[in-house]
Amino acid sequence: MPIFAQKLLNGEKSENDKTKHHPEMMDVLAKELNTEVSNIKDFDLVLYDTNKSTLGGLNDEFIFSGRLDNQLMAYTGLQGYVRANKDITSLTESSDCRIYVSFDHEEIGSTSDRGADSAFLETILQRIMKMEVSQEISPTAYQEAIRKSYLCSADVAHAVHPNYPEKHEAQHKPKLNEGMVIKTNFNQRYATTDLTALLFKTIAEKNNLPYQDFVVRNDSPCGSTIGPILSSKLGIRTIDVGCAQLSMHSIRETGGAKDVETSIELFKHILEEFSELDEKFEIDFEWLSKQTDEQTNQPTNEKINQPTNEKINQTINKKVTQQQKNEKISLQINEHIDKPIKNKSKNIKIIKNFIKKIKKYYNKVVSYVSNFYKKQRKMQQRTENKQKTIIKKLVNNKSKI
Ligand SMILES: [Zn+2]
Repeated sequence: MPIFAQKLLNGEKSENDKTKHHPEMMDVLAKELNTEVSNIKDFDLVLYDTNKSTLGGLNDEFIFSGRLDNQLMAYTGLQGYVRANKDITSLTESSDCRIYVSFDHEEIGSTSDRGADSAFLETILQRIMKMEVSQEISPTAYQEAIRKSYLCSADVAHAVHPNYPEKHEAQHKPKLNEGMVIKTNFNQRYATTDLTALLFKTIAEKNNLPYQDFVVRNDSPCGSTIGPILSSKLGIRTIDVGCAQLSMHSIRETGGAKDVETSIELFKHILEEFSELDEKFEIDFEWLSKQTDEQTNQPTNEKINQPTNEKINQTINKKVTQQQKNEKISLQINEHIDKPIKNKSKNIKIIKNFIKKIKKYYNKVVSYVSNFYKKQRKMQQRTENKQKTIIKKLVNNKSKI
């Protein structure tokens, strides 16, 4: 109960010592603690809604509960972790180090001795590396392991509210019970990248588990998670995901009952299947470099008509249409530019007038500035003269004395 509670040294309450808390609450506390009100000096007290979570809705499709944000993801993440590691062979056969971690203080910015923005996770990971592998490991083993790793940052997401559908982008309206929300924000308020999303979606689709894409309306501020903090701190590939929910941060929040099970399953499959899938993923650097070469060389149509493989073919087709579009645009621009050129004498007049106006304005500015300095100099001289006469008077007076 109370963290700070102490009797006054002399056992009496001083006259000035007026309690800052409500007397009735103090009575309740004193009764609970079996002591006198005067013995309670101060406390760190947190009030909770003690009602249990319940299912609701016609088909029990909703969960009504306090603190769904973010106990929902803390719970489903942990359950997924337990399921993935239940079968001991899945652990012994895997070369992965599977880790589940939930952080305190996310709602107040994560900067604390135990928050995501602390040294906690990094130091723990480094210690695990030293414990798990032999002494003769490469000095960069930790950094290499981090680059091969994948982090699911899981925090609940705002579902579209039936009364305020306009608060969401048309194609980005997360709904309850329709699966994990993948959050993307190109200002990096979420750490999701194309690659981390692709890995996640591939595993979800393979296991018939639903997911939804989400970006915040671009005129609304975007919330954030521990995803960007950890991905930048550790250098780990990260995705930001979470279940959709309503009434976030109110004392009683609303979530989707079906999302609990699908989230647990999804986390389980990510833990089990990530490494194998990641090994199959290849970035086609040869193809990429060809693309950049083409872009810098600005290829002619003849060059485009000699495709070397299917992928290049597809992009080139896109490119040709884009090029045609560009040509159209440049034609339009040229037309626009051409028009005034036809009327040369008129243009020259306009330009001459413009130059005249600028000259006039310039002269005004110059005269204003020079006047300003003249005035200042005069004022300075006046004060200097005054000072001189005062000094003279003083000197004269002294000599008289
Ligand atoms: Zn929150």
